[in-house]
Amino acid sequence: MGVKNTNPDKNPRKSFFYYYGIVLLVVFLLNTFLVPSMMGRSVKEVSYDQFLHFVEANQVDMVYQDEEGLMFTVKEGVEKEWGVTAYKTGLWPDASLTDRLLAAGVTFSQEIVTQPSLLSTIFVQWIIPIVLFIAIGQILGRTLQKKMGSMGNPAMTFGKSNAKIYAETETGKTFGDVAGQEEAKEALQEIVDFLHNPQKYAEIGATLPKGALLVGPPGTGKTLLAKAVAGEAHVPFFSISGSEFVEMFVGMGAAKVRDLFKQANEKAPCIVFIDEIDTIGKKRDGGGIGGNDEREQTLNQLLTEMDGFDGKKGVVILAATNRPESLDQALLRPGRFDRRIPVELPDLKGREAILKVHGKEVKLEDSVDFNSVARATSGASGAELANIVNEAALRAVRMGRHLVTQSDLEESVEVVIAGYQRKDASVSQKEKRIVAYHEIGHALVAACQSNSAPVHKITIIPRTSGALGYTMQVEAGERFLMSKEEALNKIATFTGGRAAEEFMFQSITTGASNDIEQATKIARAMVTRYGMSDQFGMVALETVNNQYLGGDTSMVCAPETAKAVDDEVIAIVKEQYQKALGILKSHAAKLNELSEYLLERETITGEEFMEILERE
Ligand code: ADP
Ligand code: MG
Ligand code: ZN
Repeated sequence: MGVKNTNPDKNPRKSFFYYYGIVLLVVFLLNTFLVPSMMGRSVKEVSYDQFLHFVEANQVDMVYQDEEGLMFTVKEGVEKEWGVTAYKTGLWPDASLTDRLLAAGVTFSQEIVTQPSLLSTIFVQWIIPIVLFIAIGQILGRTLQKKMGSMGNPAMTFGKSNAKIYAETETGKTFGDVAGQEEAKEALQEIVDFLHNPQKYAEIGATLPKGALLVGPPGTGKTLLAKAVAGEAHVPFFSISGSEFVEMFVGMGAAKVRDLFKQANEKAPCIVFIDEIDTIGKKRDGGGIGGNDEREQTLNQLLTEMDGFDGKKGVVILAATNRPESLDQALLRPGRFDRRIPVELPDLKGREAILKVHGKEVKLEDSVDFNSVARATSGASGAELANIVNEAALRAVRMGRHLVTQSDLEESVEVVIAGYQRKDASVSQKEKRIVAYHEIGHALVAACQSNSAPVHKITIIPRTSGALGYTMQVEAGERFLMSKEEALNKIATFTGGRAAEEFMFQSITTGASNDIEQATKIARAMVTRYGMSDQFGMVALETVNNQYLGGDTSMVCAPETAKAVDDEVIAIVKEQYQKALGILKSHAAKLNELSEYLLERETITGEEFMEILERE
């Protein structure tokens, strides 16, 4: 199946005629005003003695005389200024001139044609400009179209909406390109099936939901899934991003929506995909002076259109967002986006599958173990995993290898997590020592508690993210729940770095800011959201605002309660800090030994760490 006809215009000829009409008019005006004034230059005035020079050099071709003077042309091949076709000079009483001219073989002419031949005039004045204009028109049209991501006949979308049509050959994606996300694919498969056999659904009287909303964190493959649906369904695919509706002029966005649905109705069965729908679908609050008229108008138009079209006709609307909580309720009510398809961060199996899909695009060494990479990347999105594979391939090229190795993948995991190594960073030996003790502090506290993820790697090589070192812990398998004990152990592990600094150097540094943040976050969530404190029990004291974007929260409790929450959080972190300090004190010898070893090596593996820790 080839590319679908992408022309949304009912009468494409019309816009063609407009365009070429304008071209003709411009060329005509040029010819009437500009060219003659330039042609004025074609006859050049020269002095009489210059004329005689020409004669003596035997270069004069034709001569013509009137009351004002002489007009003459020179022979072909004689060098003259650009654009000059003839010369003019004044009259001089020169009796012998006629004889000399005759002797030189000059033709006496009735008149001198100062214009080039008719054919070349037409060529220069009409054909070249018109061809040029058409070429420019084509190029402009094509770049415009490219910007809009669609193919098709250029010069047709002037003044048209940017809604693009993708056909299967253009997205080139299928469900095979989407790893994991089985539930999402299943839900979308039904839509694909409906678009293939609408009558099967009509027979039994079932109507498919008009719209499906893909929700999930950034980079989880929402856009990819929508493209895959188009690839699977073999129907036209109109894709537009919410931000494209937001126009400078009020009313333009609404017009675009109208246009989009008009096109979609003509092409049914087809899919309309609105990416990042939250940009237009935000809650209408009605507040603020002037509000956001443009956006509200656009949203209203979208709602109207969704109600207006006939669901049985086979127009399916997909939309994607990573902030579903900010969407206007009206969009979510039945008959609109009533089906919600969660596209969550991949689990261990999903991560491995995604790595494999992207691993197919690069040449891999046989020994590559994606499972271990997947385990080290808990919480990574599909986009990040794709990036990790690509970074690994880039590293392989930098190292002059032909195959991607496991160490490339491991290094690129760290690059994506912590940034590139900063080989040039000049960290003093004294600071390096502090960093080494800090990192071993984390690792030692983690290792000496039960229910902590094993240490995978410890390094004190600075990274471009600003980290001077870090300790990587990797869970053995996938974890979905965290017990209270594990949460507390995590906090203790985070405080372990600072505890080691205080214990060893009796001074503390700013290097623990990120640890502090993480520890506080867990402690606060324990109290306000997980019901893990004795004082408050199972009461939600905070709500999450942006489930998929950072997960910032807002307090929902009285000011006195907020104060009590703070006290509780502080007490938890303090207690864990003391616990960590206790662990380090009782393992002081190991702390020293491990830290000096790390200082020397800069990077050590989990196995080396455990080996030293466990030997007598
Ligand atoms: P979203 O729209 O959810 O922000 P995208 O669909 O734009 O995410 O995904 C970005 C890229 O990440 C994709 O082009 C693809 O390379 C990769 N990716 C994300 N999820 C997956 C997945 N499940 N399988 C394979 N690749 C994925
Ligand atoms: Mg997207
Ligand atoms: Zn730390």
